[in-house]
Amino acid sequence: MEKIYEYITTIKPDIFLAVMLTLLFSVEQIFFSTKSFLKRSPHLIGNIFLQIGYIIMNFGLATFVIKVLDWAANEHIGLFNWISVPFYLQVIAGLVWIDLVNYWAHRLNHTWALLWRFHRVHHSDTTMDSSTTYRFHPLEALGDNLAAIVAAFMFGLDGTVLIFWLIVYMPLLVLHHTDVIMPKWFDKTFGRVIVSPNLHKIHHHQQQVFTDSNYGLLLIFWDKLFNTYKELPVEEIKYGLEEFDNPERQTFWYLLKSPFINVKK
Ligand SMILES: [Zn+2]
Ligand SMILES: [Zn+2]
Repeated sequence: MEKIYEYITTIKPDIFLAVMLTLLFSVEQIFFSTKSFLKRSPHLIGNIFLQIGYIIMNFGLATFVIKVLDWAANEHIGLFNWISVPFYLQVIAGLVWIDLVNYWAHRLNHTWALLWRFHRVHHSDTTMDSSTTYRFHPLEALGDNLAAIVAAFMFGLDGTVLIFWLIVYMPLLVLHHTDVIMPKWFDKTFGRVIVSPNLHKIHHHQQQVFTDSNYGLLLIFWDKLFNTYKELPVEEIKYGLEEFDNPERQTFWYLLKSPFINVKK
């Protein structure tokens, strides 16, 4: 366990993410989306700018999160700072706990009108590929990092558990948005435990009853437990949001200012 711990702490999440995105994006563009690549270039350019903004914000804030967690550990704040629990149990409990907090944070992004103004940028994409993965409004990074702090504070998690979480979750997050439809057997096996890419794609369907479902990030249980689980054949999904269907509302600048505009259908 010590060796794994030492190894994990040497992994840099930013480099890991860049490798994952490049790899999956190349596979998807070369093998699955070659013909439509040129038609989708405005979508790709807009998404790349949004990704850069979000990632820059996130790395700045991640440094802040780590500092806050170090302070909490010094002050003995949080469950794992009061009781002695083996590290591997801290990691497992930490992953489940971070996933649960993220489920509710994501749900809040849909139900609280102010947060939805920012989160809808992610949902506004009318075509789906790995470039959608980090198509977020840069200011949404504030809410995401706040959720990480709340989760870590209550359990007294250290930065290593957060890195574990990112390393388990990031490849799945990229897979959620790739332009590759997973075979049915994938849903019937892994999909019983994790949020399968097909299930997350339903979350990007234009019809609101589906947009407001399948909030889970890593584990499938929360949606089932809290009654937000919905199924739909992937072929029936129409991606995006009606109010963003117009190509003029798909540009980088429009999306950047969209939280401050009353976007009408
Ligand atoms: Zn969402
Ligand atoms: Zn998504």
